[in-house]
Amino acid sequence: MTRSLKTTLILLASSVISMSALAEFKQAPLPYATNALQPAIDQQTMEIHYGKHHKAYVDNLNAQIKTYPELDKTDLIQLQEQISKYNTAVRNNGGGHFNHTFFWESLAATNKTGQPSPALVKQITQDFGSLDAFKQKFNEAASGRFGSGWAWLIVTPNGKLAVTSTPNQDNPLMDLSETKGTPLLGLDVWEHAYYLKYQNRRADYIKAFWSVVNWNKVNERYNEAIKK
Ligand code: MN
Repeated sequence: MTRSLKTTLILLASSVISMSALAEFKQAPLPYATNALQPAIDQQTMEIHYGKHHKAYVDNLNAQIKTYPELDKTDLIQLQEQISKYNTAVRNNGGGHFNHTFFWESLAATNKTGQPSPALVKQITQDFGSLDAFKQKFNEAASGRFGSGWAWLIVTPNGKLAVTSTPNQDNPLMDLSETKGTPLLGLDVWEHAYYLKYQNRRADYIKAFWSVVNWNKVNERYNEAIKK
């Protein structure tokens, strides 16, 4: 091997290492095909939402490792819990990365959604009156969020279920969130999540969302949350 080739390989190897050190946060593959949620959520929206919007949050969050080297070693959930220590870019993009990862897992093709477990239904009935009353409350939070944001079902620190809404890419895990808790279900109500298919009809998007809620995942999150 020539000296210059050796030098080139060493430089290449070290640049690969430094690139990976600057890419702590990664976008997990979607847990289904981009057309799996049709007709509730169309394929083109999924492709752009996952491939452009979510990817941009991850890239922009990784770009902040230059400013905050410790981000490289920070877990995504821990980051939410200490988000007030960081700048707006980390808040928006760190929130965006968590929220979208959480959102993809909250959805499933209509034949794979399962249903709310007896334990979850019992708690929903206790805290909201009925499953329909809960959905009504969640719909109101989602449609009532002015501008961009999210609607959530959470377990509060006192073990009750609550429906909340956050602006922008904030979420209930963030230490600066008005209502804190462990999220079980989240709905993205940014226009980029529905505009191609539903235009200004956010209510129709919210209604269609219920047909693709991954209750198996929500049940699993509930079981984990009540163990804490
Ligand atoms: Mn989104």
